[in-house]
Amino acid sequence: MNTFSRRNFTKLSAFAAAAQSLPSFGQDQKPFRFAAVGLGTISDIFMKACAQSTKCKVTGLVSGHAPEKAAKYKAMYGIPDSSVYSYENFDQIAHDPKIDAVYIGLPNSMHAEYTIRAAKAGKHVLCEKPMAISSAECQTMIDACKKANVKLMIAYRVHYDPIWMRVKDLARSGAIGDIQEFQGGFRAFFKAGQWRLDRALSGGGSLMDLGIYPLNAIRWIAEEEPTSFAAQIATKTPGPRFASVEESIEFSLKTPSGVLASAGSSYGVSGDNYLTIFGTDGHLRISPAYGYQGVRFAGETKTGPIDETSKGVMPYQFTLEADHLADCVRNNTEPKTAGDEGYKDLVAMEGIYKAAGAPIA
Ligand code: NAD
Repeated sequence: MNTFSRRNFTKLSAFAAAAQSLPSFGQDQKPFRFAAVGLGTISDIFMKACAQSTKCKVTGLVSGHAPEKAAKYKAMYGIPDSSVYSYENFDQIAHDPKIDAVYIGLPNSMHAEYTIRAAKAGKHVLCEKPMAISSAECQTMIDACKKANVKLMIAYRVHYDPIWMRVKDLARSGAIGDIQEFQGGFRAFFKAGQWRLDRALSGGGSLMDLGIYPLNAIRWIAEEEPTSFAAQIATKTPGPRFASVEESIEFSLKTPSGVLASAGSSYGVSGDNYLTIFGTDGHLRISPAYGYQGVRFAGETKTGPIDETSKGVMPYQFTLEADHLADCVRNNTEPKTAGDEGYKDLVAMEGIYKAAGAPIA
């Protein structure tokens, strides 16, 4: 039964009116139009981000067997029935000229299938992290998008956040000397009863979901791929909650130039998330590092102490990432976080799981 009430509809209509009055697409510039695939937590944020964009808009939905969710977003964003698809008739999107790209906010093991189907339908793809559950799957996604001549971008939102870009610029420009080491972590408490704890859907535990953040930041800032790994996994909490995925992991890696990094992630502790970059002449500590707003870094540089906090308000990171794909399509340039970036994280995570004695997927 559709439980979507009249009261909700009135509330959402007001939201839709407000959202529609925000963007100011130039007269000669049409909005870049996304269909959201999967209407869960992250797609909800992504759609809000598009409503705040001056370049992007959500014009389609792909949803399962929960009609109240599709009804809610249809009302919020003024999406016609003709642009609401199910997982079964998703391929019909090929014939929808009002959709330029898809945003994939599905469980990890579904990313490859929906990326490949979208590419075959001629739509550009913005896919959530982790890109897939194995590097082999990532390669099939890259190949499919290349063959279809569509852009493939992985949603590493921190790459588009000006405060993270500033950290990277400082680290790479020698403000803390030569980069020697990284230490990072992302830990949170996850309750039972969600796809993240089911290996068939997630491909792995806290590393795939949370540890990927420090791992990706380390690879991005080091500008090198790790070639050796050590790791330990542990599941301290008894019972069925962690029957198929790891609760906690600690890993370390080394790059060809000799940069060392260590990081950890957990689903079983009260949260914290950070990254410290150690250089020969200083250090930068980003904490909180991976949140949707309030990212802060502090430390010592060659020229003295530094302490900066992002003033961006959620969901600004998502708006910037959506706008980036729109720009890449308009200018025919490669996204900063193309499929290759997601592939390299999967290669590294496979190395980490192997070192821990727990093969991926
Ligand atoms: P969610 O559980 O809130 O939403 C998942 C969506 O997929 C739901 O709409 C659900 O109905 C749909 N779905 C379709 N088939 C399903 C199935 N077999 N089992 C479960 N759900 C199914 O999850 P989420 O937190 O939105 O995560 C989705 C993706 O986004 C994941 O890949 C996750 O890693 C990623 N994510 C990214 C960020 C970020 O900051 N970039 C944050 C959270 C999640």
